[in-house]
Amino acid sequence: MKYNIEKINEIGKMLAEVVEAAIQTEGEADVLIGDLELALRESLREIGGSALKRFLENADGELAAEMECECGGKLKYQRRRAATIWSVFGKVVYQRAYYAGCACGKGQAPVDKRYGIEPGKVTAGLAPLIALSGIHKAFEEGRKWLKEYLLFEVSENTVRAETQKMGELQRQADTKLVKETQDETGLQKRERSQLPTPDILYGSIDAAKVRIEPRDEQEKALEKCEMWRDMKVGCWYEADAVPPRQQSVRQKDKAQREGIVLRAKNQQYFCDIEQAEEFGKLLWATGCAVGADRARILVFICDGAVWIWNLIDHYFPNAIQIVDWYHAADRLKRIAEEAFSQADERRAWLEQSTEDLWQGRVEAVIEACQLLAKKSNLAKQALLYYANNTERMRYAQFRAAGYLIGSGVIESGCKQIVTQRLKLPGAQWQVEGAVLVAKARTAWMSGNWNKLVSARSFLPLAT
Ligand SMILES: [Zn+2]
Repeated sequence: MKYNIEKINEIGKMLAEVVEAAIQTEGEADVLIGDLELALRESLREIGGSALKRFLENADGELAAEMECECGGKLKYQRRRAATIWSVFGKVVYQRAYYAGCACGKGQAPVDKRYGIEPGKVTAGLAPLIALSGIHKAFEEGRKWLKEYLLFEVSENTVRAETQKMGELQRQADTKLVKETQDETGLQKRERSQLPTPDILYGSIDAAKVRIEPRDEQEKALEKCEMWRDMKVGCWYEADAVPPRQQSVRQKDKAQREGIVLRAKNQQYFCDIEQAEEFGKLLWATGCAVGADRARILVFICDGAVWIWNLIDHYFPNAIQIVDWYHAADRLKRIAEEAFSQADERRAWLEQSTEDLWQGRVEAVIEACQLLAKKSNLAKQALLYYANNTERMRYAQFRAAGYLIGSGVIESGCKQIVTQRLKLPGAQWQVEGAVLVAKARTAWMSGNWNKLVSARSFLPLAT
């Protein structure tokens, strides 16, 4: 929008006079810039609320005696009635024309309908800000933060409700995508549209535990203690080289050893608390959305859980599968610690086996573990792990092809989606609430928040 800057300057001048006068009457001696800013912010908030009220009260225009009801019947003009909304400027009460008297019993205010206003509720301008605090902070903490930014209070329940609403919108988007990619017509429609075809695309899947509280006494007795559920998290991403100038000290070391340092970009996260089969549908749907089914090369880097490889085999049978390097190498470290009491022996074994693994000589790694199987339980258990994943550990080949071999993206994704929000002190979750907050977080982390914001602004009209 283009504003008349002269008029705005005039308002600014008037506001300065108002604040100046207030300071003088209160006789405050040492007014600093922060005081001025706060006084101006508070005034601007009042002005915004007053302008919004004025705007809405003038929006009726010429009033008809009758209007059509949604049911097809007739509504008659009653009178101007007050409505309250919570906007970015705080509480606003305004008067607008109200129609009623239809046989269906419903009433209507044309102004509310025109602007997508739900009387008594939070506006579409304020809702995303509230939700933004709720996806990052425990709801009560978010409420406190909001007060500092907004200069008025919203309740903890409002923070929870608006945050979950955003999660619900993400869930609806997920469900729609799943539906479109499950049936033929949806897939064909997608074929026709011009979607990007990535060259090398990566996928990673992992899961993190969320503590779920029992809902009532009965459930509490049934479960005896708290329940843990797996939040399954997936990410689609691409990779590019970190330019030398942007490399950290650690990355510079890595660049010297390996020639190139890759980093993930365009991450698209998705998540749910669901059985693997249901989660698979979301994997497929989100994959289709980013072109996983059309990518020249599709690479999955995961930590090695069997259900994950099964899903990948099922939906993307041609994908290259890589066991996350750090998981595979860390296993050797733990074996060495268990098997050797002498430091130099331990170091020698670990250096050799790690080098073998790095070069993709998995058979040599298995042999090395076999020699330790008698004295180390971990080594014995690892035999199957390395044998089952041999082809997923040809690290030399993968590196030569220029692929990422670490699943750091999904590790950090799980941390950000689950640990950093769902495991905050005092957090108590039901499955529903945990899923909604996590889904809202994936939207934020994937750069899709604005899609939810615009979907949110249509909410009252859609219901
Ligand atoms: Zn009606």
